[in-house]
Amino acid sequence: MKVLLATRNVKKLDELRRILASSPELLKVELVGLDDVPEYAEVPETGLTFAENALLKAREGAKHTGLPTVADDSGLAVDALNGMPGVFSARWSGRHGDDRANLELVLAQIGDVPDEHRGAAFVCAAALVLPGGAGPANGREHLVSGKMGGRVLRAARGEGGFGYDPIFVAEGQTRTNAELSAAEKDAISHRGKAFRALAAVIAKTL
Ligand code: IMP
Repeated sequence: MKVLLATRNVKKLDELRRILASSPELLKVELVGLDDVPEYAEVPETGLTFAENALLKAREGAKHTGLPTVADDSGLAVDALNGMPGVFSARWSGRHGDDRANLELVLAQIGDVPDEHRGAAFVCAAALVLPGGAGPANGREHLVSGKMGGRVLRAARGEGGFGYDPIFVAEGQTRTNAELSAAEKDAISHRGKAFRALAAVIAKTL
């Protein structure tokens, strides 16, 4: 049984493969990426929520490939910015994927926010859509989410991770996400939680 993970991000593909491999019921599932299927025009992420964007991408994948398709969307929601950058996390500074500029802008925007109001959370929505008819009510669309609460520091620290990891310390941690090992981050991360929940859904559904 093949399942498409609608992403070109090799790290995400590896992460989901790792999580699926730890579920014995899923050993028969072969996970393929967008590079392994005939090319189709990808939809822009126009949703205003992580869930909408994850569903949008998973529906497109299922429609074009006929495969059960998994897609996710994630970002950082900062309390003092009313949940932003949110779905705009990857392009907050105006340049898509410029991690440094994005985190510098967030630091500047909350520069005068006191420590007790610097709460934030990473959020991930992950969807599984089965081919042959979209629609939330027919058992062909499944949505899960994961969250990692914490706070935003005043300066970046650490070399690991990506995105906003150097300025984020998760609840119960003293190190930033960028100072955790990949396994330590996976164990508590928004994406780790969402993908582990999705692995259970895949096992039940397929
Ligand atoms: P996407 O889910 O690949 O679309 O990621 C959206 C953006 O959210 C990334 O470009 C990062 O800026 C941010 N982001 C999502 N997850 C993480 C994380 O685990 N660490 C740091 N930044 C993240």
